[in-house]
Amino acid sequence: MTSVTVIGLGLMGKALAGAFVRAGHRTTVWNRTAGRNVDGAEHATDVAAAVAAAPLVVVCVVNNDAVLQVLEEAGSLAGRVLVNLTNGTPAQAREVAARVAELGGRYVDGGIMAVPQMIAGPGALVLYSGSAEAFHEHAATLEALAQARFMGTDPGLAALYDLALLSGMYGMFGGVFHAFAMVRAAGEDVRGFAPMLGAWLSAMMEGMPEQAEQIVSGDYATDVSALAMNQLAMPNFVEAAKELGLRPDVLLPIQRLIDRAVEAGHGADSLTRLVEMIKE
Ligand code: NDP
Repeated sequence: MTSVTVIGLGLMGKALAGAFVRAGHRTTVWNRTAGRNVDGAEHATDVAAAVAAAPLVVVCVVNNDAVLQVLEEAGSLAGRVLVNLTNGTPAQAREVAARVAELGGRYVDGGIMAVPQMIAGPGALVLYSGSAEAFHEHAATLEALAQARFMGTDPGLAALYDLALLSGMYGMFGGVFHAFAMVRAAGEDVRGFAPMLGAWLSAMMEGMPEQAEQIVSGDYATDVSALAMNQLAMPNFVEAAKELGLRPDVLLPIQRLIDRAVEAGHGADSLTRLVEMIKE
């Protein structure tokens, strides 16, 4: 079993450290504020001692500014692989990678596609990028957390895919919450609506491979649903929201994209054309 260090014992860091302990790895932990404990782990007194304790150092703190602060206290990272599971942008990941290289370590960035309760359970996925050699050396240990998927040697790739997947989630939740708000505002059965909404969204998701084909080919011709028709329907959504005493806020950005696409002469195209309208 490998030795591993976990830096940061917030909700996620604690779950990660607990998973390593349960998988039988000798686990050392450090947290900025004392008093956060993980059963079965050794608690280091400072960052340098935590880094010295294991060849694999997993960092999961609030943001990458905090990661850079932690690195200033780490001293040399010679012989160490730093796996950064902190949420951030691709550019931030590259910046942390450069700092880790200056300190003599190898770098793997990661994006956690799970909440703490899912760690070490089915369905949990962590995306990795950076040093392929370092990732493969420690992949078996990292599998204690979640399925481990290597996205490529550019350290920014894990963050790119992480943020893309989460952007999909936030956009979907915007629509989901608006839909629930409509049904509740009308005094209807919110519980009964949940499976209807889930089934509808699942049916819509089946179109994704076709959407990807359209995006790759640039051919947005449709015999399903044209933007011009959607443009005419959108005011109904906004008006209905207002009639129910709701803010139409989550609908308006989509309405603006549709308007711009139609104004640009793409009224006969499919909704997938909106990908082009998102470009700056
Ligand atoms: P928490 O807010 O629960 O914990 C934040 C952690 O960051 C604490 O350990 C805190 O230490 C530490 N920290 C903050 N600032 C510093 C600093 N300057 N130096 C050192 N340590 C610092 O966050 P989570 O554990 O939930 O999230 C951690 C990371 O994991 C985030 O980037 C988040 O986006 C990501 N993540 C979280 C998920 C979740 O569902 N929770 C899901 C996927 C990713 P202290 O105790 O001293 O304040």
